[in-house]
Amino acid sequence: MHYSKLTTIFSALLLLSIRAFTQQPVNLHYTLSLEDPASQKMHVVFRCTGLNGPVLDFKMPVWMPGYYQILDYAKKVDNFHAIDGAGKDLGWEKTTPNTWRVENPAGKVVTISYDVKATTPFVAQPWLDSTRGYVSPAGVFMYPNGYLRQPVTLEVKSWSGWNKIATGLEKVAGKVNWYKAPDFDILYDCPILAANLEEVPSFKVRNIPHYFYGYKIGEFDKAAFSSDLQKIVEQGVNLIGDIPYAHYTFLATGSGRGGIEHLNSTTIGFSGDQLKTHDAKQRVYCFIAHEYFHHYNVKRIRPIALGPFDYERENRTNGLWVSEGLNVYYEYMLVRRAGLMTGDDLLHHFQTDINAYESKPGHLYQSLAQSSYETWSDGPFGRTGDSINKTISYYQKGPAVGLLLDMAIRHSTKNKKSLDDVMRTVYRVYYQEKKRGFTDAEFRKACEDAAGVALPEIFDYVYTVKEPDYAKYLAYGGLGIDTTQGFKLYPLKEVDELQAMIRKDWLKE
Ligand SMILES: [Zn+2]
Repeated sequence: MHYSKLTTIFSALLLLSIRAFTQQPVNLHYTLSLEDPASQKMHVVFRCTGLNGPVLDFKMPVWMPGYYQILDYAKKVDNFHAIDGAGKDLGWEKTTPNTWRVENPAGKVVTISYDVKATTPFVAQPWLDSTRGYVSPAGVFMYPNGYLRQPVTLEVKSWSGWNKIATGLEKVAGKVNWYKAPDFDILYDCPILAANLEEVPSFKVRNIPHYFYGYKIGEFDKAAFSSDLQKIVEQGVNLIGDIPYAHYTFLATGSGRGGIEHLNSTTIGFSGDQLKTHDAKQRVYCFIAHEYFHHYNVKRIRPIALGPFDYERENRTNGLWVSEGLNVYYEYMLVRRAGLMTGDDLLHHFQTDINAYESKPGHLYQSLAQSSYETWSDGPFGRTGDSINKTISYYQKGPAVGLLLDMAIRHSTKNKKSLDDVMRTVYRVYYQEKKRGFTDAEFRKACEDAAGVALPEIFDYVYTVKEPDYAKYLAYGGLGIDTTQGFKLYPLKEVDELQAMIRKDWLKE
């Protein structure tokens, strides 16, 4: 009797647990149609299985990592619909400007569909016409709230007039134009470019392939350009000592200067016509080196606020002086080390940045760390009104402080260590070992550990508006600065052995 009662109870429990386990597994699949370019609308169908709860919140991100501004993605959504597995309409309502709340038929199939107006030609915005389809994924794909860590698959239906789709996303084996991502951070990190794409010869670095696809890339010597690009990539790889991706793709979206960095790709405004003069070519190379080096610096060597991302609000950090400012420093260093700019060019770049910083009234008001934190309100480009007089750019002060920091480390270690060692260490310790970003204090400690001494003055240049002592730190590297001539940098005539050694190593001359 007892035994049989227990058996009944156990059977019931077993049945319950089987029910729980046989609930449909979570499966998320997008179909993106670029088939009607004349409409300038992308059509998205998003089929979700196994999501829990009486309602599901589908959210459109409000920003895209790499572009630190709130964008209007949700406003571009139109014709929203939701159906169940049998094709029956499901009720839905907007609950916030970027949230569509849909009734959920208990763990079964929910399919939402919508159009995205793709009419803004900008790296952080989707664009569609007969020339190209450019998918900035954070502005196209809604995510189901609570499921950002779920894997997703994606089928891209391209327009019949185009020959190719280029993206950093992994392909699904055995399927045409199917892609997959292990989570939404990766999906949102992989822009997609579909068009009649031209190609620059691909190249390998440490056996890893690098591709360059573009729309309207212009007339230029593509083999020579590919070889130069390879030299820039090699310098980045040599500096950090590791290639963390299986393939890398440059996506060129026509003329214009916008660029956004990703883990294994970058979108860049590009026209080969800009490669005709020495100065213009150097600007292109620096720009590409900048976006490329970002796959280390900001995507992997990153402030703790920058990943995993919150797509619903500003992700503020003091650390963009590292992620952007030092990235400008390294764009110059990579191009110089690749032999694609002269030592004079290198000095001239720092002169330009220092001069720009010093001539801004804002250098008396805003520190480098504040300019990072406030970029969401100030905007990183084209400030207007009073903010011009109260703000600075981390793109200008950042590389200048990077130069002084590098010289300080080289000086205190007799040139045995440099800022390169800091970048390598932070990559190893925080990206590879701890698998997280660094705090302000941890980055400072990495610098001071490399230097073997405290660097209070350098970090005053980061956290306060204290006037940098350029002459002192530049002299460590055998360089002078003429403040009467627009902060012109020049090699000092009288230098000791250490100054000469640092200058030779830093300047590569
Ligand atoms: Zn950047």
